[in-house]
Amino acid sequence: MKKHADLLIRHADYLDENFELQKGSSIAVADGKIEKIDTLEQLNETYTFDRTLDGKGCVYLPGLVDAHMHTGQQLLRGRVLDEMPMIWTRIMLPFESTLTPEKMRLSAQLAALDMIQSGTAGFIDAGSYYMEEAAEVYRESGLRGALSFSTMDQKGLPASIAMDADEAIRRTDALYDAFHGKGNLKVYYSLRSLISCSQELMEAAGSRARERGTMLQAHMNEYPGEINFFMEREQMRPYEYLEKLGILGENFIGAHSLLLSEDEKQLLAQRGVNVCHCPFSNCGKAAPDTPSLMSKGIPVSLGTDGAAHGGLSLWNEMKIFRSVMNLHFGVPLSNPAVMPAKAILKMATVNGQKCLGNPNGGVIREGASADLIGIDMQKPHLAIYGHLSNTLLESVNASDVTDSIVGGRVLMEKGQILTLDQEKILAEAKNYHP
Ligand SMILES: [Zn+2]
Repeated sequence: MKKHADLLIRHADYLDENFELQKGSSIAVADGKIEKIDTLEQLNETYTFDRTLDGKGCVYLPGLVDAHMHTGQQLLRGRVLDEMPMIWTRIMLPFESTLTPEKMRLSAQLAALDMIQSGTAGFIDAGSYYMEEAAEVYRESGLRGALSFSTMDQKGLPASIAMDADEAIRRTDALYDAFHGKGNLKVYYSLRSLISCSQELMEAAGSRARERGTMLQAHMNEYPGEINFFMEREQMRPYEYLEKLGILGENFIGAHSLLLSEDEKQLLAQRGVNVCHCPFSNCGKAAPDTPSLMSKGIPVSLGTDGAAHGGLSLWNEMKIFRSVMNLHFGVPLSNPAVMPAKAILKMATVNGQKCLGNPNGGVIREGASADLIGIDMQKPHLAIYGHLSNTLLESVNASDVTDSIVGGRVLMEKGQILTLDQEKILAEAKNYHP
């Protein structure tokens, strides 16, 4: 008797775990995982399928992971570029203090559509307000995501977002109780930035994340002012301060992590901390020393920093990252391979899935979670591709993504989004006035 599987992707040329092209296979998906990769004849002999996708003309890759984004800044798209400092205090914070449940719902709907269409299968939101609204949308979308509540207890914030450490923790607790483990969603504890959090809040968020077996994320070592603040007040650097509080570990994600001392890099390696760079956003700040982080075995992932910082396409982020690494490290050393395409693709897939607590994701092999995207290669800029991983990095754009499958569920087929009503959402967006 034939076995049952949920989905068959016929004629699925794919990128294997070594980022090499494998041709002539089809892929069977069952219970959210890649069940079997084999010839079409063999799979049809072994399984019956609920549904079939035709992958002819496509190459399948692991779905990308945006390891640092901000749903709450989605409606700020186009309002940040060329602005004078401090964008955070002049634009971001005042805007987020005026969020409403309706705005968050629309933000999450637009972000989800954009991510699915761009080939992003998973994301980590750094935290905003009315995250319950966003969580409902993301659950419906089928995306894999980790959500946080915006966590800070700094004095002098606008009244609508001012709170003490206890309340900030209680709000994340409530989000966790409501959504952690529901569908493809998780809830992470978060520290918005260390400067805006008291020691009491940092310690509470650190211990709560540990007790509940979830991750803790923070914006780290992004500005010279932030480093100087801790050096003046504590006579130590930000990561050293978190180490003193016992907060650093494998469950910690340090977004940005640009301005690091050698001692801090050692600390990150020792504690197994995850780092996430956001190339477009980071270009206004500093080039991270990624080659040195990688040589120490520190897992580096990539994020967009939200739609207001150059959009939600990880394809753009990967290209910018490669260019920055080449200009900053490769050219002075005459080393054109300082950051190879395969290393960057690994950051946007395997390492991103690690940040999502999904060590079994980010690759296409039997037993891995079925987070896959199809790229339409029948286009003038992709039809001849040389080394496929190079072409994926150099030439693929978000609009080349045609299929999206997350946890075995088809979210987009041949460019058609199946889980959200795109037309209705875009009509609502048209009526949005800032
Ligand atoms: Zn951010």
